Amino acid sequence: MSYAVTLIPGDGIGPELADAAVTVLAATGIEFDWQLAEAGEAQLASHGTPLPDSVLQSIRRTGVALKGPITTPVGEGFRSVNVTLRQALDLYANLRPARSIEGIPSRYRDVDLVIVRENTEDLYAGIEHMVGADAAESIKIITRRASERICRFAFEYAVRNGRRKVTAVHKANIMKLSDGLFLESCRAVAAEYEGRIEFEDRIVDNMCMQLVQKPELYDVLVLPNLYGDIVSDLAAGLVGGLGVAPGANIGEGTAVFEPVHGSAPKYAGQDVANPTALILSAALMLRHLGETAAGERVEAAVRHVIGEGRHLPRDLGGNAGTRDFAAAVAERVAGVAVGG
Ligand code: NAD
Repeated sequence: MSYAVTLIPGDGIGPELADAAVTVLAATGIEFDWQLAEAGEAQLASHGTPLPDSVLQSIRRTGVALKGPITTPVGEGFRSVNVTLRQALDLYANLRPARSIEGIPSRYRDVDLVIVRENTEDLYAGIEHMVGADAAESIKIITRRASERICRFAFEYAVRNGRRKVTAVHKANIMKLSDGLFLESCRAVAAEYEGRIEFEDRIVDNMCMQLVQKPELYDVLVLPNLYGDIVSDLAAGLVGGLGVAPGANIGEGTAVFEPVHGSAPKYAGQDVANPTALILSAALMLRHLGETAAGERVEAAVRHVIGEGRHLPRDLGGNAGTRDFAAAVAERVAGVAVGG
């Protein structure tokens, strides 16, 4: 069988990274029917929008997209393509695993966290206004429906992926109504999984301190939008930074897999960018499609090539080009020894 998947190369370094990920996926032996959907700066010039409708239509059709980064045009009237995609497709769960990779310098060797961030509400609902000339007000929206939905997603992820614990992160001691509702919703969902998945909660400031001191104590974290945004970058920093941080935005019937980093325009077209984050995002996509063994094989190949250190991309201290690195990972995925 073949999987129909929307491929959005994006702009900047995106197209090179997309080529790298497609090369690695081809080595799994799984067949993909790639539906190319162009979005980004070139479409802004040709269509007057960086996100033509055809892109959304393609994702609605296939249900799954692999996406490179897209530049957000600076100037009035342009919303981020990434934010628009998440809202238009109601991709309510942002999933960001952060796992140590041997060979990448970082303070810890045994970090294995999964950050589940609510993607649709909180202060990111964008409801803000001036109150007179010298005060501004932003409204924080937290609903029981969205809180229960994201918490259930975190527990289901934990069950499906053999994880042991979910930690809800909040500031309910101060925001007793909004964060209080988030915590109450998480507790209600946690009760359904009692005996199967452990549950605990942490106040967000304490959580940040604990993560930098003893990240090995934590497993799956579930957070409202703003804390999730901040804590997921903290977690990426614990394992080597943006170049290796994969991500996914998941909704009821659709999912978009993309790296956390941006389009790094200064490296575009030079074959120097690190494709690890997009390749690991593609591995998350394989798991989402039910191709768990292939997803594990891709992750293991990335770890092997980085750990071995012979084909390291430049941001990790080596001099392998984007294509070299992808070829080394693809060879490993296909089961052929790298470098003979
Ligand atoms: P960026 O992630 O593009 O770059 C930050 C730093 O990391 C730069 O030094 C960059 O060169 C480096 N870097 C990033 N990815 C790399 C990779 N794969 N290999 C090697 N080095 C890498 O962030 P930015 O400069 O703030 O944003 C650039 C553009 O990307 C902006 O228009 C922004 O809006 C957009 N952006 C898009 C997404 C997305 O598509 N999801 C996410 C973030 C930013």
